[in-house]
Amino acid sequence: MKSRDRLRIAMQKSGRLTEPAQDLLARCGLKFRQSRDKLFCFGEGEPVDLLLVRDDDIPGLIAEGVCDLGIVGRNVLREFQLTNGTGSELSELRPLGFGHCRLSIALPQEDAYSEPSQLHGQRIATSYPGLLGEWLRAHGVDARVVMLAGSVEIAPRLGTADAICDLVSSGATLVANQLREAAVVVESEAVLAGRAELPLDERGEIAELLLRRLDGVIQVRDSRLILMQAPRAALDAITRLLPGAPVPTLTQVDGAPDQVVLQALCAGSVSWRQLEDMKRAGARDMLVLPVEKMLA
Ligand code: ATP
Ligand code: MG
Repeated sequence: MKSRDRLRIAMQKSGRLTEPAQDLLARCGLKFRQSRDKLFCFGEGEPVDLLLVRDDDIPGLIAEGVCDLGIVGRNVLREFQLTNGTGSELSELRPLGFGHCRLSIALPQEDAYSEPSQLHGQRIATSYPGLLGEWLRAHGVDARVVMLAGSVEIAPRLGTADAICDLVSSGATLVANQLREAAVVVESEAVLAGRAELPLDERGEIAELLLRRLDGVIQVRDSRLILMQAPRAALDAITRLLPGAPVPTLTQVDGAPDQVVLQALCAGSVSWRQLEDMKRAGARDMLVLPVEKMLA
């Protein structure tokens, strides 16, 4: 294969992962010019291009070396790893914190569920034979896996299966089809997929730069920087109230030896109640700021 010097990332062309994936790459400072056929986006700043495809094709494109990285659901990546010979070369490099869902086994609402052994001898419809097969083996269940490419949720009503194994987020689709969630097979979210070993050339260096930026973005996405003034004597009490137990940075206040300015990066949001508790402990002039970027 002709060698490339630009990094290529595969992502979903149109679907649930498209917008959050684009947003994440934009936060990493990547800008793209979309081509006319809308399959390929040329990166304008860094040497990183995008290939816009169906999510199911992403692991295969990485395994074949057409793309270096991909943004795809863990469900799709793990299924590929289990059902393709080349799957073992791929790995999950980072969880990305969006596209949360679970691959679950669901039964008709009237069927009570208490344990996996109940599924012995049942027909279970799914688009994920690899993941379901692995779960069934792990639980010692001998069931028949009925492979369906889509509309899995109507299989029990059609009589082609006794249960299903499909993606669930809110559960509304299950309820609409008179099904109930019985067991979770995989907890999923969008992940950055790639070969376990990055290429040793320029592309590897760009991939590493992107991973560092991603870590910065992911780390600060839900963090808040909190600033306040506090009496030294109240520091222990205030520090205990900081969400996510960060180690604060302290600055001396000129002319007031018993006062400090405290700065801390808190994981997650800071509620009014938490601020009020800190104020009661002695803090004042509190500011809570969103964090845009971080480079350690
Ligand atoms: P494509 O045309 O790219 O094949 P698709 O219909 O397979 O699209 P989407 O429905 O857009 O894909 O889902 C993409 C991914 O979003 C899923 O593989 C899964 O990881 C995640 N996801 C999050 N919530 C849900 C949900 N409720 N149902 C299905 N997928 C979900
Ligand atoms: Mg798909």
